[in-house]
Amino acid sequence: MVIGIFSDVHANFEALTSVLNFFSAKKVNQLLFVGDLVGYGANPNECIELIKKLNCRAIAGNHDYGVLGKTDLDYFNDQARIAIEWTAKQLDESSKTYLNSLPLDNKYDSIFMVHASPQKPSSWNYILTLEQAQTQFEFFKEQICFVGHSHCPFIIEKTHTNEVKLITNQKIIIKDNCRYLINVGSVGQPRDGDSRACVSLFDVDNKIFEMYRISYDITLTQKKIIAAGLPKFLAVRLAQGR
Ligand code: ZN
Repeated sequence: MVIGIFSDVHANFEALTSVLNFFSAKKVNQLLFVGDLVGYGANPNECIELIKKLNCRAIAGNHDYGVLGKTDLDYFNDQARIAIEWTAKQLDESSKTYLNSLPLDNKYDSIFMVHASPQKPSSWNYILTLEQAQTQFEFFKEQICFVGHSHCPFIIEKTHTNEVKLITNQKIIIKDNCRYLINVGSVGQPRDGDSRACVSLFDVDNKIFEMYRISYDITLTQKKIIAAGLPKFLAVRLAQGR
């Protein structure tokens, strides 16, 4: 049993198709999507169409809520707000229906998933420090919690003696007596300095969790963003992974 986990697609069709090809090559049995399917990128309807066709357990992110008017646009910075307003105009009815069907959190066996933080999903708070991460373990009861939102991947392990530590390896063994808070990074707009799409695989039988980076046609995605009249910065940053 192999689970593919991914987040923050942000309407980047080229990154999403590369990632889905990777998942099918790895014979993934179940997909978990951790939110922000739209916003920033030029292909919101196309990305939603792709995800809808898959057996994918998905949740909403702040951008998905923003385009539906379910989160106040004052929350967002100028570039993000412009992209959300643009996206809201592009979405067809079936795309809106799909986004509206996404819950704020979800479960899959011993896995909990929420876009921003387990503590208060609808506040869209970022988990940026070990201290902030430590608190989060009180707000889910499953062994593993996957988050997205910051577009910067991390793996945090909480031992049976309540020690909370950051793990820098890309590949880890999930230990039965530990719990995990894992940010799976971003498919469509990574911000950790690596411009490639970030995805994760969890081999449930062998208890191996691993993060991967997948190349895609960034130039084509950038051209589409500029042609759509979206802020140029949203195209530039893709090549920088920032
Ligand atoms: Zn995002």
